[in-house]
Amino acid sequence: MVKSRIPAPRRSLLLGASALLGTSALLVACGAQGSPSAAGDAAHRPAVPSASTGTTGAAGGTPSVAARPTPGEGTETPAAPDRTPEPSASSTAPASPHASPTPSAPRTTAVPSQPSGSPAGSTAATPSQPSSHAPATGVLRHTASGGRTVALTFDDGPGPATGQVLDLLAQYGAKATFCEIGDNAKTRPAAVQRILAEGHRLCDHTVDHPQPMHTRPHEQQVAEIADAKSMIENAAGNSPTITWWRAPGGDFTAENERIGADLGMKSLGWTVDPRDWSRPGVQAIVSNVQQNLRPGGVVLMHDGGGDRSQTVAALKQLLPWMVAQGYAFDFPQS
Ligand SMILES: [Zn+2]
Repeated sequence: MVKSRIPAPRRSLLLGASALLGTSALLVACGAQGSPSAAGDAAHRPAVPSASTGTTGAAGGTPSVAARPTPGEGTETPAAPDRTPEPSASSTAPASPHASPTPSAPRTTAVPSQPSGSPAGSTAATPSQPSSHAPATGVLRHTASGGRTVALTFDDGPGPATGQVLDLLAQYGAKATFCEIGDNAKTRPAAVQRILAEGHRLCDHTVDHPQPMHTRPHEQQVAEIADAKSMIENAAGNSPTITWWRAPGGDFTAENERIGADLGMKSLGWTVDPRDWSRPGVQAIVSNVQQNLRPGGVVLMHDGGGDRSQTVAALKQLLPWMVAQGYAFDFPQS
């Protein structure tokens, strides 16, 4: 029940709807593979000029975009939702260049580190190397079911646009994963509860989106991840199971991956990053996703971090397009 495939009848209806919406959405076929910039949650991170290289390949089936450095991943600027300046502004994101995790490792199935210490006592449990920059090795970048599925992920919320995103997802029978910032979850518990009530899942995106994360003291990284998990759980009110966490800007390292693992969460990356947080224009967002999405891919978008009107408008085109392309909506591999 993880996946939410759209029932045949409904799909056909959707197809019809998409046709009505305009062929423009159908013009772009997959396969192109431009060099997305994928990198990262980069979202928020303007800079990363070249970093944008591509999606992080993982997509199961078609690796087409092969060698993507993934440097980008480390790029998302704080975008902390409502509080952060925003994209363009911060262009120079300090972001973690280095964070190029999983260069080639596509679908990392298993979990990175081993459960060492106790889940709870992570703080104490995570010993060694403070801020080690060891590259991450277990970042997940694939849907749970594989095949022609896509996992939509929305970061930095909940925010003012979360309701619109949820409305659209409901319209298309799509399920998504929301990587929430602890402070925002605490501020908008109703949104967190609605997300769960409508069948979506939650992901820990730290308390306040520190960037770059890997340079923070070990204890701070533990607190950012552990406290956010608690804040999101408290906002949800019903002890939801949170099985993923995503580092701001995709700044994963072996160190923080271990912290997340000790808390029972896997590191969640992505394969397609349209950089919607930088508000590149609706068509730019749409085209990026259409060109870079591959079966089993994980799309990074944002429901928080500032004005998300472009994201919402793009989603209105992308959801029917995905349905028309035969994609079923799934959750990330876990
Ligand atoms: Zn983020």
